[in-house]
Amino acid sequence: MFEAKQFPEFSWSFSRHKTLMTCARKYGYDYYAGHNGWLYDADESVKHVYRLKKLSNLPVAFGKIVHELAEKAVRLFLGHGYVMSETELIGQAREMLNRAYTDSRDRKPQWMQKPARFKMLYDMYYEGELNRMEAEEYKRRLQIVFKNLLKSGSFRDITERPQTMQFQQAEEFRFMAVDGVKIFVVMDLLYRDLKADKWIIVDWKTGKEAEDDRSQLALYAYYLMQKYGARVEEIEIRNEYVLTGVQKSYQLEEADIQLMLQKMKQSIHIMRRYQLDIISNEPVELEDFPKTEHERRCEACNYKEICRVSS
Ligand code: SF4
Repeated sequence: MFEAKQFPEFSWSFSRHKTLMTCARKYGYDYYAGHNGWLYDADESVKHVYRLKKLSNLPVAFGKIVHELAEKAVRLFLGHGYVMSETELIGQAREMLNRAYTDSRDRKPQWMQKPARFKMLYDMYYEGELNRMEAEEYKRRLQIVFKNLLKSGSFRDITERPQTMQFQQAEEFRFMAVDGVKIFVVMDLLYRDLKADKWIIVDWKTGKEAEDDRSQLALYAYYLMQKYGARVEEIEIRNEYVLTGVQKSYQLEEADIQLMLQKMKQSIHIMRRYQLDIISNEPVELEDFPKTEHERRCEACNYKEICRVSS
């Protein structure tokens, strides 16, 4: 039987770490204050935080759609030998984006009731309309990313020489434990190239290249080493930048793994400061999660309508 937990489970992920680095108060909202906000009889204030958490800006909504369709394209090929066409992928992505827009415009009352089932775009919620230039830019990107996805080395590995590839199901590589903490490892695609005798980890990137991409990949490599006993030199890690069509491959070294582990443990240590109880994960009061000093970050924050009026 489903039992509501008083506090959320403590775990670590890169996105959790990034949120904490952006603003500890935002971290408090994202990972604690909206907990159970999906329950019918939750306090209105908790439901409010949970709803705001579900707001999505256009770049994030776009990224999720591309990832969802990339996963679908791989699944359809592996399950049925079917290769989705660029036109199909663009058509489905456009429909999904339109749905996000029409939900935001026409179904706000439904979203207020069920924020996980309906979409609400950040600009539509706060400004009542999309930023026209941004919307045009994402329409343009729609025409580019799927062409690059289908042309990418990783997608072609799958479709052109499936007999030399061994795939791991996405569900099998979700998390591991480090020092007793659950660590989420979200990989887009993982396979073993039998010809090259390598594990290949692929991350589809819909944005620009970023500094921390490499340490995120080191976490994936560490997972493979733990779970499958892979050696670091057997692991090839790829970022496929579908906006530019560039593929970046990395061969990590033991030192990269150690550096990533060190950073992760430091990050967990900082997160622990916001727990009153490390077993139950009961948090400190929301007011004790400090607000960022960089006020510009607040301009694009999901929680600005409640945070700016609170202490
Ligand atoms: S509005 Fe500003 S201070 Fe408040 S949670 Fe967002 S980023 Fe942090």
